[in-house]
Amino acid sequence: MGIWQKEFTSVFLLFLLVSIVGGLTGLFLPLLLLLILGILIQQVFQITRFERWIRLGGRSQYPKTTGIWEEIYYHVYRIKKNEKRRKKKLSKVIDQFRQSTEALPDAAVVLGANDEIEWANKTALKVLGLKQSDKGQRIPNLIRFPEFIRYLKSGNYQEAVILPSPVNNQMTLAVRVVSYGAGLRLLLAQDVTQLKKMERMRKDFVANVSHELRTPLTVLKGYLETLQDMDDGLSPLLTNSVQQMQAQTDRMQNLVDDLLLLTRLETQQRKTQCIDVPALLTQICKESRDMLDNADRIVLVLDTQVHIVGEELALRSAFSNLLSNALKYSPDNAPVKIRWYQTAESVILSVEDNGEGIAAADIPRVSERFYRIEVRRSKKVPGIGLGLAIVKHALMRHDARLVITSDLGKGSCFSCHFPVAQICTPKANIMPTDPALSLFLNDH
Ligand code: ADP
Repeated sequence: MGIWQKEFTSVFLLFLLVSIVGGLTGLFLPLLLLLILGILIQQVFQITRFERWIRLGGRSQYPKTTGIWEEIYYHVYRIKKNEKRRKKKLSKVIDQFRQSTEALPDAAVVLGANDEIEWANKTALKVLGLKQSDKGQRIPNLIRFPEFIRYLKSGNYQEAVILPSPVNNQMTLAVRVVSYGAGLRLLLAQDVTQLKKMERMRKDFVANVSHELRTPLTVLKGYLETLQDMDDGLSPLLTNSVQQMQAQTDRMQNLVDDLLLLTRLETQQRKTQCIDVPALLTQICKESRDMLDNADRIVLVLDTQVHIVGEELALRSAFSNLLSNALKYSPDNAPVKIRWYQTAESVILSVEDNGEGIAAADIPRVSERFYRIEVRRSKKVPGIGLGLAIVKHALMRHDARLVITSDLGKGSCFSCHFPVAQICTPKANIMPTDPALSLFLNDH
């Protein structure tokens, strides 16, 4: 029998008893009132006892009772017990998390919705110079590097920001933020001093070797030219050898030039000016057309005349590389379209060809250094695999990005997206208003 059924049955039996006794004695009403009063007093007593038990936490063993009240006590007691077990488990997980983050070699800081510090591990105290008492303080007030504040504000945490440690400027940190939960963020700072040192050593090494190779190459090229001049064509072996040597030294010269340019793009300070991109593109196209049999292959479309803030050498190299690739990797008579246009967010230079295209799996890798796609071609295409790496670095210096879309066997489109914030107005030629002065200037 169910608990409710039992409860109703006992109430019903009591009523039956009162009715029988009341019927026999003629005191039905007083007896009924007495029964109702008794039930009421018993329920009030149970409620008071339950309230006291719950008020005291409901964790101790519940008082002895029967019927529906025993059932209520039992369920509440079970819920409380489960909750206690869950809490214990949770605090164990939190403890484990804290212990593991304490053991992390990286600094870890939990940030609240307003960038306030909620928790930090020991490494964070050491490398970020935070103190236990900084809990609740906003982190931008403690780590005041502008690039860090900008990074934190941006909300774009895909890449890490590189900073010196606030307590030791010999230490380089890669700081990264990971969002989780409701508005919580975990800030991780990794010591990348050794990595940066090695990267600098690699850059220096490449720069030095490339630089040192320049002089012997110039000497070799000079002698080869003299040999070519002296060649009277009587020995085909000599003619062929000189030609081969010249081709190889040219290749080596290109490699050294590209490596030096890459190093310069990676390491040199930015020196920007307002660049007339339409004029630059016109010039690049003209130079390329001059070297082609079919000059009409190159179609230049200037949908906008905007200028952008940038570095002429970097932009020239990027655009020339894209154009020469489009010409190299498409049939000799296939058109290549260069377009300069503006959208709501970007100013875009696109170079579109109808060439061999790139497989989707290769697209993310083509801008890596020395990455060349192995394709069986009817003619050998010269190249070293540094062109797109140069494009990528040149664009990085302009806060621009390279977007590649391609259909294997149909063609590719490489587009450089510059933020509209880079648009600049060229300085107007200031003509003197005084006619006498203007005459003076015209005369000279
Ligand atoms: P390189 O042209 O010297 O090999 P790049 O870095 O310029 O080096 O290009 C890397 C690779 O990307 C090339 O070897 C080529 O396979 C592929 N590639 C670049 N541009 C194009 C293009 N327009 N069409 C098809 N493949 C391309």
